[in-house]
Parts: sequence; C-alpha cells; structure tokens
Amino acid sequence: MGFFKRNHRIAVVLFSILFFIPPSFLHATEYYAFRLTGSDCTPCHTNPQTGSLNQTGTLYQEEGYRYPFTGKGIFLYCLWGLPLLFIIFGFYRRYRLWRLGKVEGKWNRWKERWKSLTLYGLGHRTIFRSPFPGMSHLLLFWSFIVLGLATLMIIVHEYLFLGLLGIRFIDSETYPYLRLFLDFFGGIGWIGTILLTYRRYLQRPKALDNQWTDAISLALLFLLFFTGFSVTGIRNHLYQSPFSSWAPIASSLSSIWTKIIQEENTLRIIFTILWWTHLLLSFFLFSYVSFSRLLHLYTSPLSIFFRNMEPKGALPKMDLDATETYGVGRIEEFTWKHLLELDACTRCGRCQETCPAHLSGKALNPKRVVQNLKHHLETVPQKIGEREIIHQVVTEEELWDCTTCRNCLEHCPVFIEPMMKLMEFRRNLVLNHGKIPRETHFAFRNIERKGNPWGFDLEKRMWWTKDLGVRQISPGEKVDLLFWVGCYGSYDDRNIEVATSLIHILNRAGADFGVLGSQEWCCGIDLRRMGSEYLFQVNVKKNIDLLQQVKFQRILTTCPHCFNTLKNEYSQFGVRWEVIHSTALLDELIQQGKVEFQSERKGIPVTLHDSCYLGRYNDGYEPPRRILGTLSDLILLEMKRSREKGFCCGGGGCHMWMEERTGRRINQMRVEEAERTGAEILVTVCPLCLISLDSALRVLNLDDRMRVMDVLELAAKRIRT
Ligand code: SF4
Ligand code: SF4
Repeated sequence: MGFFKRNHRIAVVLFSILFFIPPSFLHATEYYAFRLTGSDCTPCHTNPQTGSLNQTGTLYQEEGYRYPFTGKGIFLYCLWGLPLLFIIFGFYRRYRLWRLGKVEGKWNRWKERWKSLTLYGLGHRTIFRSPFPGMSHLLLFWSFIVLGLATLMIIVHEYLFLGLLGIRFIDSETYPYLRLFLDFFGGIGWIGTILLTYRRYLQRPKALDNQWTDAISLALLFLLFFTGFSVTGIRNHLYQSPFSSWAPIASSLSSIWTKIIQEENTLRIIFTILWWTHLLLSFFLFSYVSFSRLLHLYTSPLSIFFRNMEPKGALPKMDLDATETYGVGRIEEFTWKHLLELDACTRCGRCQETCPAHLSGKALNPKRVVQNLKHHLETVPQKIGEREIIHQVVTEEELWDCTTCRNCLEHCPVFIEPMMKLMEFRRNLVLNHGKIPRETHFAFRNIERKGNPWGFDLEKRMWWTKDLGVRQISPGEKVDLLFWVGCYGSYDDRNIEVATSLIHILNRAGADFGVLGSQEWCCGIDLRRMGSEYLFQVNVKKNIDLLQQVKFQRILTTCPHCFNTLKNEYSQFGVRWEVIHSTALLDELIQQGKVEFQSERKGIPVTLHDSCYLGRYNDGYEPPRRILGTLSDLILLEMKRSREKGFCCGGGGCHMWMEERTGRRINQMRVEEAERTGAEILVTVCPLCLISLDSALRVLNLDDRMRVMDVLELAAKRIRT
C-alpha cells in the first residue's frame, strides 16, 4: 500500500499549494507581457495628479485590450503549459521513487508540523545558525515567496475582481505601492542570489561542493532578476509611466540602459529581446526545477513538514517478531520519509562541517552518505542482488565511524537524519549478518552475561555505596529519588568519585534517595547504538521488571547515556517515569536553597564540555552552566564549539569499545580546543566524556596544565557544611 493511498486528498492539497507557486511566478513574467499585449494597463498610465490617462493608457483603453483574449495572450498561456508539464513529469518521477519505500505513519500532529514548517521553513531557524549563508538564503527565499504571492494577487485581481466582478483594487492609488513592493522584494532576491554566488565561488567554503547544476541555477536566477528589472525599467521609460520612481531598482537599471542606448527604436528592440529572454529563462528555470538542485524548493518543506517528531534521543523501536529482515540493507527497506529526505538534501554541508568523524579524517562524511544514497535511489538496479547498500554504497568503516553525536541531525536545516540511516545499516549488519567490530565482542558478551561491559561480578556493583551508608532499595520499598548509578558510576574508579560527590550533595540537601545495588543492570544504550536491538530489548525488559518492583518518584542519574535511554527509549515499552539528570537536580536544589557553596580561591578559569547525550539529545545546556555560575571562584570560558555546536568527546555510539584507526583522535581534538581557552579545569557532565577527555589529556601531556573534573565534583568540594 502506497503512503498516499490513505491520505491522498491531503497530499493532493499540499502538493497543489506547492505547485501553485511556480505558475504564479510564470504569471509574474507574463505580467510584463500584459503590458505589451495590452491588458488593463490604465493604472500605470494614469496621471495621479489629474486622474487622466496618458497617450498609452488611452490607446489601451480605446483598443479594449484584455488578456488573455488577445492572440498573444492565448499563445503565452499555451506556452506555459510546457514547463508545467516538465514540473509534473519531474515530480512524478521522484514520487515513484519515494513510493519504493515502506509505509511510515507521518499523518499526525498537524499543529506541530505546521509550526515546524513556519519556524524552520519560513523562518530559517536552523539555517540562521550560520548568519551569512542564512541571511543570503533568506533573502532569496522570501523574495520568491512574496513575489509569488503578489503575482497571485494580481491574477486574482485581473481575472476575478476586475474581470468578473468589475471591482478594481489595484488602481492608480494602490498601484505605486505594489510597484515599490515588487521592486523591493525583487531587489532582495537579486542580492540574495549575488551573495550566494559570492559564497560559493569566491569564499569557497569546504562544506560546499560545486556541481554544474549549482552554477546553472545561480546563473538562471541572476539573469532572471536582471532581465526582469531591465524589462520593467525600460518599459516604464518607453511608455512614460508616471510611477517609474516607485520602482527605483528597475528605474536605475533602465537609466543605465538608456545611457548606453539613446536611440528609441533600438531601445524598443532591446526591450523585446530582453522580454523574450526573460520569458524563456523563466520557462527554462521552472522546467529545470525538478531535474536540478532547485528541487529542494519543494522537497525541503516536505521534509520539514514530515519530520521525525519522536523524542530527539530515541532510536525507533523494532518489532522483532513481525520483521523478516532487520534494519536497512536495500534501498526499498527504507521508509518513504527516508527516501524523500534524500531528495530534500540541499548539499549545504552543515552535517559535514560539524561531524567529528569527518573532521578527524575518518571515512565517514554524512553529506556524502546522503548523496550516495540519493544516487543509488535514482539508479535503483533492476537485479535485487545489486541493490545492496552496505559495501556497494556505504562501507562498513563509514557506518562504524559514527559516534552518534547527533550533530548532523541538529544542524541539518531540513531535518534529514544521516545518523538514523547509519543506525539502520548497523542493525542490518548485526542482526542479519552477525557482524560487529571485533574489539566490541567482549563488551557485548559481558553486557549480555554480567550486565556491564567489563564483565565484573554483579556483587561488586556499587560495593562502595555500602561504606557510604547509601540505602539499598528492596522490592516493594519506596523512595523519592532512585539513584540509577550506571555501569561507569558503579565500576570505574574515576566515576565512582563523581557518584560519591553526588551522594555527598544529596545527603547535604537531606534528599530521600536509594540505589538498586547489585540488582541494577546495564541500561543497554550502547547495545542499541551498536545495532543489536534484540539484546537491547532483552535488557530493557529485565530492567523494567526490576524497576516496577520498587516505588519512586524520579530516577536520578549522572550518566547522560543512561538518562537518555531511560527517559526517551524505555517509554517505547509502555512505561512512563520521570528521569532527571544530576545537573538538573543540583540546579533545582540550588534554586530551592537546599545546598550552598563556599569558595577559597578566586578566578579559576574553567571550560565546559557539553555532552552530546545531555545537550543535543536532551537540551540540557543550561543547568551545568547555572551551577558553574553559582560556584563563585570559577570563571567559565566557553569553547568555540559549545552548546548545540559542541564537539563530541569521541566516546559515543560504542566508541568506548572501538579503536580509532584512521585520522586524528576525536578526544584529543576536543582537549586541544579546551586548552586553547586557557582553562585550568575542563568540566564534564558525563562519565564517558570524563574518561575519554582525561585519557586524551594524559596522552597529550597536558595534565600538568589542566584537569578534567565533573561538575558534581566541583560542587561537592565547595559545598557549605
Ligand atoms: S551522528 Fe555525529 S558522528 Fe554520526 S554522522 Fe552524524 S555528525 Fe557524524
Ligand atoms: S543532509 Fe542536511 S545538512 Fe547535510 S548536506 Fe544535506 S541538507 Fe545539508
């Protein structure tokens, strides 16, 4: 069943709206033609002072010209059918490709979807994170929208109001403002085109790859604006329009033309040439849309509209019993939305320029993955055996390079999800072919058997909490805060210190909390990121059984990875509970006045490393910063890449268990960035970041200049007793 079958009416309406824009643009061009063929041109040829028509206006009125009842008007309308056919044919080709994908229910949450389209589509919210390209694109984008709507209004006026009802709202009073409006928005579109050309061909950022289709699209747009303004300006000059001054850009351009060509007959010939050039360029541009990068004019809004609305941190749940093949190994195993995304990619390179794997010189480049998949989709081989993606389109090395940092998703302006595609490939490789990187075998096996990646005895889990007198909760008992200590907090020495700091803070604040002790089991997040959905689900069920035996108000955790999966992924299995990260809880305790701090030294420079799973996945940027702000002896120096632009520590997506064989080490790149701030302490909020960055610091011999500490350790040391 195709995805449009059920909701074809909505789809048709949506597409009609989108399709309507080019015809109205076409009409914009034709609007110039009306003036030639002789439509109702009287507003433009009426003297605003006297209200009387000038010579041209009188001529038009006397001859009673009204398009499209002139031969030329009919001819032009027929001619416009051609690019329209190209557009429809081009879209039909793409639609057929998207239909290769599996059904995926996206016909819900309409309010949020329209809001997304408004914010991220019309408002360019993500694009604006890079101000220069963001502004350039916005100018061109809004020029298209406004000119399209304005010409739509003209059509309605000419055909409906004036043509059928005899009502005129574009007259000599309002026309000048319309003229100015069109001139202004044409101008910003032209400027936008020039700025985009400047960036692509003079600034030449690494993120952009130049293809001939980019040059053609920009050249077409530039010439379209140029000829449009020239035609308007020369026409106003030739027909002595009293409103020339209301079209300053067109008039300025026309004054250049009239300086070069003073002879009126020659100017008329130039005008005719420009007019036809403008018309043919518009034909070509709109015919070209669905065969070029300009296709994103339609596919990007669709991708935004149908974006993934699940929690940011959740990978989709697989129904293991109902599935014959797992993950994605062939193009038709993607959903239609994944395939639509391939067409929505604008090749802007934002994913590439923020991807730690790419920046550290690994094989993976998310933009290239998307583009290669698009190419594969366009040339779907006839033979099933040749449709395999892994090895033919994406290498194993590429898909294991991903640290799941979520940068590519966060910065893609049109909500394309390269990481999700890589995770589907991992699932396919692991569940269908049993292939995982060799060095991760032990972690898999240990989690399966012992509930932790190192294979430590269960009895040794949280052994240290007993010495601190932490309450261990038994089935049926109740507690306010269930402290989920996690594998790192339970077994890793450095993270035991962090967990101890939290316990110290909780005791100081008089919180009612407890731990599960040796009963706790790995939350399974890395199993899922590794592609082993089966083992992940086994872990989830085991933990849910355990957690349902005790009563608590909130689950508290220091690990953003545990936090993310307990909060966003366990809910896929029918449980609802509140999960809080230790930074948010400490922030809360500070606000409530339950903990206070004292400081000795002043002005210790620190920098904060944002954890991907706390920040980008769960928007937890502010609590750690507020806590650091409360510790009055510390001065926070932000790194160049912070908050949503934060750079990964290199440990996510199971990379704590994998070797980095190619390129630079991601953790070392991050430590070097931290060191450039001049900070003495690199503050972390995640056990994996703490281990990963601490090890890089030692390898780089920077440990005499800087220390890595969790924010909880800093707070616990300064707590007022
Ligand atoms: S999630 Fe991070 S590492 Fe993976 S492809 Fe995206 S940006 Fe690159
Ligand atoms: S996937 Fe998104 S961010 Fe990456 S190049 Fe395509 S549009 Fe740009």
